[in-house]
Amino acid sequence: MTIKVAIIGSGPSGFYTADSLLKSGHDVEIDIIERLPTPFGLIRGGVAPDHQTTKKVAKAYEKTALNDAVAYFGNVEVGKDVSMDEMRETYDAVVLAVGAPTDRKLGIPGGDKEGVYGSADFVGWYNGHPDFTDLSPDLNVGAVAVVGVGNVAIDAARVLVKTPAEMAATDIADHASKAVQASPLTDVYLFGRRGPIEAKFTNVELREMGKLENCMPIVHADQLPDEVTGDWSDRDQRLKERNLATMREFLDVDPTGKEKNVHFEFFANPVEVLGGDKVEGLRVERTKVEGGRAVGTGEFFDIECGLVVAAIGYYSIPIEGVPFDSDNGIVVHQDGRVGDGVYAVGWIKRGPTGVIGTNKPDGETAAQQILEDVPDGTKPGREALTAMLDERSVRVVNYAGWQQIEQAEIAAASGEAPRRKFVNVPEMLAVLE
Ligand code: NAP
Repeated sequence: MTIKVAIIGSGPSGFYTADSLLKSGHDVEIDIIERLPTPFGLIRGGVAPDHQTTKKVAKAYEKTALNDAVAYFGNVEVGKDVSMDEMRETYDAVVLAVGAPTDRKLGIPGGDKEGVYGSADFVGWYNGHPDFTDLSPDLNVGAVAVVGVGNVAIDAARVLVKTPAEMAATDIADHASKAVQASPLTDVYLFGRRGPIEAKFTNVELREMGKLENCMPIVHADQLPDEVTGDWSDRDQRLKERNLATMREFLDVDPTGKEKNVHFEFFANPVEVLGGDKVEGLRVERTKVEGGRAVGTGEFFDIECGLVVAAIGYYSIPIEGVPFDSDNGIVVHQDGRVGDGVYAVGWIKRGPTGVIGTNKPDGETAAQQILEDVPDGTKPGREALTAMLDERSVRVVNYAGWQQIEQAEIAAASGEAPRRKFVNVPEMLAVLE
């Protein structure tokens, strides 16, 4: 009998799982359940709007979605429209591919002031994710502090300082584009609590900061070591050497005509957000790195800024009835097996690290485990889910529905923009009326 698999979440890890199941050649029926009408998770809502080449991977996911054995159930929320228990009863295997949609908390005094945002919210806002459309950060500020020196920190900084011409061929949400263009912002500070060698950003992303039309990358020469020392893998050693070389090149970038600056502040650990109700600045402690850890030196300095974006990593949301490891922000599992016909892939399994391709092996592992554990399907699957959702009058958006929404977004785009995103669910559903 056909093995009935539900994949909850339509980001990369979900699609790679579906793809691996299809490639296995087994008789499978795969339903991809997504809370939003729109698929692709972080490809749409996380990858920076000016990284359109990266977003092209969605074309491969589309092939999977259009396979006869696959159905897309958009606008269906597990935990609200259908319970996790019902999913388990309905499917032979349920794969959690729900990612890590919230932020790790900054947890410093003043961290709850108006104008402090986590990167999940801030990135979601500029990417037009319906959950964050109303965030409305006040960009009428001269300086922004970004906490963290990972790729998300770099993305946020870059989107804030690029010129309208540099952002023309992007799908940044209209509301964000308007706010960024109207902003008097001149300075973005990136705070790394450790040194340039320990920074998490990758080299392509770092190099982009040296090629911006109207923005200077500023590094402090005295913070750059002569060489990369430490116990790194060969791959990491090479990456860090490239990063160090790039940061040295930043020392020679010609500042002529550049009105904005991105300051790389290493050995600098934010300890307090300053101001009244609203952010007015950030107090930072100088650190040194000992045994790979940032250690405070007791020396402090303040910077003025009107907005703080904490790009310090994402965090998963516990799922009803599924054991959660709150220290690590992941579900409890054994190499992806959660138990009771449930499997985990992507960030809910591994935590919020790695690039898009890192999800591929997760999908392969989950597919292999499902086929080992469930040699023969016994559950009703799609038919039963469809009946349940019908009975509850849930407005399911199938893949053809998403394609219609996408066509409307493409048709609404102006200039070089690839699409003009709908930024709330009613707007998306209205296209289907
Ligand atoms: P990340 O790479 O883990 O970087 C998090 C940064 O926050 C690190 O610099 C970390 O410093 C710092 N941090 C953590 N807790 C902190 C605290 N309490 N106080 C101060 N600083 C703190 O996470 P991310 O940038 O969110 O990225 C998530 C994943 O997505 C990464 O694997 C990333 O490469 C990937 N991604 C890739 C791209 C791309 O390929 N273009 C774009 C976006 C995201 P420590 O190192 O000292 O902990």
